[in-house]
Amino acid sequence: MNKKEQIPETRLTIALCGNPNSGKTTLFNQLTGSNQKVGNWPGVTVEQKTGIYKDDKSVAIVDTPGIYSLSPFTIDEQVAHDYLFSGKPDLIINIVDSTNLERNLFLTTQLAELDIPMVVALNMLDEAEAQGIHIDTEKLSEQLGCAFFSISAAKNIGIDKLMQYCIAGNIAQRKPLRYLARTEDALTAITNTIELPNKRWTAVKLLERDKNFAKTIDVPQEVNDIVERYHKENPELSTSDIAEQRYSHIEKIVASCTTSQKKTSKQHAERMTDKIDKIVLNKWLAFPIFALVMVIVFFVSVGGLGGWLSGLIADELTPWSQGIVAGWLEPANQPWLTSLIVDGVMGGVLSVVSFVPQIMLLFGFIAILEASGYMSRIAFIMDRLLNKIGLGGKSFVSMIIGCGCSVPAIMSTRTIKNINERNSTITLTPFMPCSAKMAIISFFTAKLLGGNALVAVSFYFASIIAVILGGLILKVFSRKKTSASDTFLMELPVYRMPSPSSVLKQMWDRGKSFLAKAGTVILTASVVLWLLQSFNWRFNMVTTDQSMLASIGKLLAPLFVPLGFGSWEFAVATLTGIAAKETVVTTLEILIPEGMIATYISSWGAYCFVIYNLLTIPCVAAISASFTEQGKVRNGLMSMLFQLVVAYVVTLVLYQVGNLAIKYTSATIVTVSCLVLAFALYFSVRYLVKHKGCNYECDHCPNNEHCTKR
Ligand code: GDP
Ligand code: MG
Repeated sequence: MNKKEQIPETRLTIALCGNPNSGKTTLFNQLTGSNQKVGNWPGVTVEQKTGIYKDDKSVAIVDTPGIYSLSPFTIDEQVAHDYLFSGKPDLIINIVDSTNLERNLFLTTQLAELDIPMVVALNMLDEAEAQGIHIDTEKLSEQLGCAFFSISAAKNIGIDKLMQYCIAGNIAQRKPLRYLARTEDALTAITNTIELPNKRWTAVKLLERDKNFAKTIDVPQEVNDIVERYHKENPELSTSDIAEQRYSHIEKIVASCTTSQKKTSKQHAERMTDKIDKIVLNKWLAFPIFALVMVIVFFVSVGGLGGWLSGLIADELTPWSQGIVAGWLEPANQPWLTSLIVDGVMGGVLSVVSFVPQIMLLFGFIAILEASGYMSRIAFIMDRLLNKIGLGGKSFVSMIIGCGCSVPAIMSTRTIKNINERNSTITLTPFMPCSAKMAIISFFTAKLLGGNALVAVSFYFASIIAVILGGLILKVFSRKKTSASDTFLMELPVYRMPSPSSVLKQMWDRGKSFLAKAGTVILTASVVLWLLQSFNWRFNMVTTDQSMLASIGKLLAPLFVPLGFGSWEFAVATLTGIAAKETVVTTLEILIPEGMIATYISSWGAYCFVIYNLLTIPCVAAISASFTEQGKVRNGLMSMLFQLVVAYVVTLVLYQVGNLAIKYTSATIVTVSCLVLAFALYFSVRYLVKHKGCNYECDHCPNNEHCTKR
């Protein structure tokens, strides 16, 4: 969301710009006091975000997605690129990861070729120090012209000094790199001919014969001639020659400005990381360890502590507060008012609020897994597996974000270059149980499935299986071939101790947004539901069974009989879930008398009901994100249709097979049906993987078979 329009006139706009994972968002949060998501992996920020500097309200700070160079490849890189060239930023703060100076300076030297003033923040000072890296900022300033500041965004070191310098306004002039004499001559000739902003950068790009760049501007014939002459006169130079010159300069600069006593701590950190990785990335151990981690996370957050806290709210606090309010309302002697407030509003809203402890705990764990660097490993090990189904490691990052909320998850697909991979990820991400669906999982686990945390975990694994199957199906049916996907270049960061404050902040953030939703969307939905269930079409107050809601529900209910939840209350709940998934729980709480739910549905039906709600179309917010991100209405509609069909078919098969097994509790039948199902699954997956789908047009294999490239 670009909030620039809502922000009052500012006198200075500072863009934070740098490589992925260098700490831009951490610095942004420090400067603006806001709480944007940070993560120990690239691709967390996919949109620019504007905030106001907390110590000087006339300064706007803009966080941009990470880029390695000024030549954009993916949508998020394009976002950063376009913003820099929009003419809006007055100053760039280039955030550089001090522990990775050489790679980061590539972008720095490109930024120095733009007309925008620049200051460089050498971030991760704490880590650089711990690793025995010393950077001579004076010398760097001498060589590149602009000012360099050592900071630690996470530890809030050196930030004030950096900002004082930026705001004072006496920004040192940048000194762009000097290339070889003949390159410089050609650059000068071009800059003398063109009348465009960012002349030097434009000249460099034209001389590099960057076709994509040349398309975006009007290149005079004279300039084309200079470029052609340059390449003709220097046939030994390749098009990447300028980049190579840049690299060799950077190498020299880094050698002269840093001293590294690469002794104890860096080696220690690397050794530790290597040791841990040997175990968690081990071919055989990686998946069992991941499964174990998830089980532990669920035992604590959904079962143990989280379950106990939620139970306290649902079973003690809710009836107690409802009793008090009912007592207050008694003198008014208006049963409908009491019913609206106590059953409708309080019942609906509190049923959702009771999940806050579980959700906060779960997100605390996810924050720890992200910040420590373990999540990057999971994405890494998933990459190869996901490639087989037309997705990649980046899709997995989206899926993990999707465990929080599908909306940012769908937006995070902007980092995916391959269009098929991107659209598939957008369609499949909503299968992940977001925090709202967590409420459905917890509700049914507690009420009908024995409160077993393993059952809760099984829903997560069911989602993963649905993603895999869905991916395969999409891969086979998407006919459009696209160019080979980008190889997944996720760096595996060193393991870091997660900062407790950032973990707490993320927990608080998730809890807060959940509560905010309970106070707005859920509250409104509760009131509307109460009205629909209290009145008939003639607006007479009636019993629930004769209400408008019942008549709608009864119309839909037959559809769901084969899925195991044929009573109209459940049909209505699947419908109201489109407003927000928490509403599924709210609806059932309002419609079904306290303690009676087990008479409405069997345990197995309840399990299937949860599965259906996990897989069916997401809430309106996610649907609209899916339409916007896919660009075409047709693609958005196809996604929805796909989700509906998958949800219906999967639930149907699951319920019917399970029911057979339960009905004939004969061990043979159970075993045979499980075996048949397992075989069917195995062979269909094998068939889909081997015979059909390759979304990629590779030069290597015209018939797309035995493709080893992907
Ligand atoms: P971005 O991709 O550039 O926006 O980077 P983030 O702000 O998301 O940060 C990437 C990772 O680096 C996160 O795990 C941060 O906690 C961590 N980080 C950021 N700044 C520092 C710092 O100064 N010191 C240390 N040790 N870690 C940092
Ligand atoms: Mg970021």
